[in-house]
Amino acid sequence: MTGKQVTHWIGGKPFDGESARRGEIYEPASGRLAGTVDFAGRDEVDAAVAAAKAAFPGWRDASLSQRTRVLFRFRELVAAHRDELARLISAEHGKVVSDAAGEVARGLEVVEFACGIPHLLKGGFSENVSTRVDAYSILQPLGVAAGITPFNFPAMVPMWMFPVAIACGNTFVLKPSEKDPSASVRLAELWAEAGLPDGVFNVVHGDKAAVDGLLRHPDVKAVSFVGSTPIARSIYATAAANGKRVQALGGAKNHMLVLPDADLDLAADAAVSAGFGSAGERCMAISVVVAVDPVGDELMAKIRERVAGLKVGPGDHPEAEMGPLVTRAHRDKVASYLDSGVAQGAVLAIDGRDADVLGGAGGGFWLGPSVLDHVTPEMDAYKDEIFGPVLAVVRAGSYDAAMELISANPYGNGTAIFTNDGGAARRFQNEVEVGMVGVNVPIPVPMAYYSFGGWKDSLFGDSHAHGMEGVHFYTRTKAVTARWLDPSHGGVNLGFPTNG
Ligand code: NAD
Repeated sequence: MTGKQVTHWIGGKPFDGESARRGEIYEPASGRLAGTVDFAGRDEVDAAVAAAKAAFPGWRDASLSQRTRVLFRFRELVAAHRDELARLISAEHGKVVSDAAGEVARGLEVVEFACGIPHLLKGGFSENVSTRVDAYSILQPLGVAAGITPFNFPAMVPMWMFPVAIACGNTFVLKPSEKDPSASVRLAELWAEAGLPDGVFNVVHGDKAAVDGLLRHPDVKAVSFVGSTPIARSIYATAAANGKRVQALGGAKNHMLVLPDADLDLAADAAVSAGFGSAGERCMAISVVVAVDPVGDELMAKIRERVAGLKVGPGDHPEAEMGPLVTRAHRDKVASYLDSGVAQGAVLAIDGRDADVLGGAGGGFWLGPSVLDHVTPEMDAYKDEIFGPVLAVVRAGSYDAAMELISANPYGNGTAIFTNDGGAARRFQNEVEVGMVGVNVPIPVPMAYYSFGGWKDSLFGDSHAHGMEGVHFYTRTKAVTARWLDPSHGGVNLGFPTNG
């Protein structure tokens, strides 16, 4: 087999053994097999966790300024290699290079947040809780943390996790998606160049076998997962049953609510950019537009106009705004919702199977922007997370009916409202059963210093990713009560607990 061969990164260097199994890496724009990736079994997982465990005492004891110096250097290196990382991501994922550069930038914001760790790790101190007795709290790292991440953000989602975990003094084993594994290895190389001690950051590639190895390993103390809801649910149950701290972010079905008084040009721009950016393979993609009567037809006309101008093509084509889907199987599954939608009564307003592809479609995994109109909640295209460039438009008779629909959806990741009525927007923000809300923005984007995560079937566990919830997730609190005897105050046994 020619092409690239991606392997694990363990103990500060590429894995030098043989993996018994391998997976294939494709180039979605051409459909070409681009290389292979080693799949970890028990031995590789054990080696990575052992390397992380061995590195933990030294890294835990590294001073905060030693840790931040490494983080600042890593930040500079990732920024300097942003275009290279973006091209690597684009080739394996399919998204356009500018979009891939955007995900690296978002990941960098978490590194920047983690550079403030000396401030973030400050505990509390209470003087004289009893006579000459003080109480204080310390935030300590957990040990080895594991991250299991999806294909759709091969740099950003791992960077939601490991900068914070490592800044807190933990060591880390990442199991990235096997579909686009190269960015994670490049990030590991950049960590090494930044001076991170060997074993603090490790990468094992693979599928369920690698994940199960991490979930059951007694030396893994915490598991962060991001991916689809069925897998998130099972990761949460298995990791918790094995005594680990766990946060498992799942899938999404993000609705955009458009009220009759909204700026319809703004709403149509947002529906198209958030619906079809990254070919709809974003956990914060808009997949349902709920148009409150009577704006449906006018909004549809504006969406149609904008979709006609969208350029579909390979990620590295300078004019392309939307790339292919990640695999052939995923492309076919996404396209099948166009047929099932029509069979179940929706109107296929825009059929992406007819889209022109810049430079020709070749054998790539293409599906252009597609819109199903007059979708109703019983249809599969409404119920399932499609995770592709298929936008469903639902017509709602009133604001109340629209709000009820959105809150009743089992997913609760993100939602957006378009309106010029401040009261209506405020009520939406206050009442809607969704974890992240946008007002007149395409979708609420994750900010490093606000934690990221949805509600209901979009998150299992109680901690969201990064921000202060990330710091909380990757540390445990120790409370200390201390008394130092001071002869000038007359000696012993002065207070706590009996005289408290
Ligand atoms: P996925 O659930 O198929 O895979 C995610 C990870 O789990 C990968 O590393 C994969 O190798 C591993 N995995 C797959 N099957 C497994 C199994 N049976 N047992 C153990 N591990 C398994 O998700 P994906 O297709 O890579 O990514 C797309 C999904 O991720 C979408 O559902 C999307 O909404 C979701 N996502 C959610 C967020 C969020 O913040 N909530 C962010 C990004 C993506």
